[in-house]
Amino acid sequence: MNLKSERRGIHVDQSELLCKKGCGYYGNPAWQGFCSKCWREEYHKARQKQIQEDWELAERLQREEEEAYASSQSTQGAQSLTFSKFEEKKTNEKTRKVTTVKKFFTASSRAGAKKAAEEKTPKQGQLGRERNADNILRDLKEIFTPSWELSSPSEALAGKLKEIQEAKAPSPSIHRQASIETDRVSKEFIEFIRTYQKPGQDIYKQCKLFLDTMSHKRDLSIEEQSECAQDFYQNVADRLQTRWKVPPEKVEKAMDEVEKYIMTRQYKYVFCPETTDDEKKDLAVQKRIRALHWVTPQMLCVPVSEEIPEVSDMVVKAITDIIEMDSKRVPRDKLACITKCSKHIFNAIKITKNEPASADDFLPTLIYIVLKGNPPRLQSNIQYITRFCNPSRLMTGEDGYYFTNLCCAVAFIEKLDAQSLNLSQEDFDRFMTGQTSPKKQESDSFSPDVCLGVKQMCKSLDLLSQLNERQERIVSEAKKLEKDLIDWTDGITKEVEDIVEKYPLEIKPKSQALAAIDSENVENDKLPPPLQPQVYAG
Ligand SMILES: [Zn+2]
Repeated sequence: MNLKSERRGIHVDQSELLCKKGCGYYGNPAWQGFCSKCWREEYHKARQKQIQEDWELAERLQREEEEAYASSQSTQGAQSLTFSKFEEKKTNEKTRKVTTVKKFFTASSRAGAKKAAEEKTPKQGQLGRERNADNILRDLKEIFTPSWELSSPSEALAGKLKEIQEAKAPSPSIHRQASIETDRVSKEFIEFIRTYQKPGQDIYKQCKLFLDTMSHKRDLSIEEQSECAQDFYQNVADRLQTRWKVPPEKVEKAMDEVEKYIMTRQYKYVFCPETTDDEKKDLAVQKRIRALHWVTPQMLCVPVSEEIPEVSDMVVKAITDIIEMDSKRVPRDKLACITKCSKHIFNAIKITKNEPASADDFLPTLIYIVLKGNPPRLQSNIQYITRFCNPSRLMTGEDGYYFTNLCCAVAFIEKLDAQSLNLSQEDFDRFMTGQTSPKKQESDSFSPDVCLGVKQMCKSLDLLSQLNERQERIVSEAKKLEKDLIDWTDGITKEVEDIVEKYPLEIKPKSQALAAIDSENVENDKLPPPLQPQVYAG
């Protein structure tokens, strides 16, 4: 059969997996089709615009405030009254904004201090400005945070720095989530970082700082927390490369360990957080996959034949891997599960087709595996990886490729319809509502090595369904007959009534006189004949 022509809905051009800006990296639906890098650029652009607008508003309000002050100084009477009327509606907002303005114009020293505290590498040109804008945004956030929630990051950071230097005591939040795994990861991390000597110490300090900073940022939106993590990865990698002159392959290795260390700790707070609709999406996908339980490999044109024991083994392994993803805490470990699953899929295809699998075969098979496995918290896992994985992992390489494919597979499952499964709309609807199952229709096409009991069972099921159909037919025919009988009786009754109405029965009173002379009257036959006139001769 011609697989190509049948694969109408599932085929995704490989170029569609790439960033829509054409930079050559892998894109992702979560980033509106951009790669992580371009997406962040877009995101920053939007944020810059917002900051610019805030700034302009602040300046305008400052000007107005000054004018108001000047006018109230000169003529304290009528003029300020009209002005206050003019500004009446804005009063609340303005008082807040004026504070903003003051903060803005004294921000440089504070931002500088904070920069030093965060020990960020100085950035050139645009990035530097961006960083500055970020600081302003952070200041803005501080201002709008209620005082009871307010904890100035610069103060907190300074405090924490001291704390770390003095006692090297873990923060309370780390205490709370202490677990065997966390401890093990910590030990491993420290051991690993020792091999890096001085840069290693620096990395460790950076990580501790980051974790402490994050513990004060739990009320930020998940996107902002993700942004912090991505910034952190970027900064640490930059420091290792520029400041410590660590060779790239060693930087990559260190970054993997850094991700493992910080995300094992952050996981609890940032995986499927309550502030997002991740959980809702998880349930929706799970429900959708359950409703699609009837989809067969044939419908998806999956070039995998599970009758081959080796292939069915691969399929089971692939399903296990994708389910296992949920149990991992580190984004990269989750990615590794996806990659392992994908490799088993490629193997399964290769064994079935007896030739290397193509990318065109891969996506439908991945969809089939996801449908068969229904992995727990699929959307949460994808979101978590997208937000907190070191972006360089997602943009290139094997892991990035398979991850992008998995996102595609999930997007496909969400919009799966009759056409993409080569089914008629009626069949699709019937399967979706569970009225019938395509498996029943295919029971004749068993391969010879299917076990006898299964064959017998399928035959019995067939027979049962045939009997069921017959029963239904008999019942419906009996009902029809009953209806016919009722209709016939009703018809006759009506006909009779019509006739009776048309020709009503009239009973006329009997006329006695007429009866007397009625020669037909039987009684009268016995009477003597009427007298005849007689003629007498004489
Ligand atoms: Zn891009």
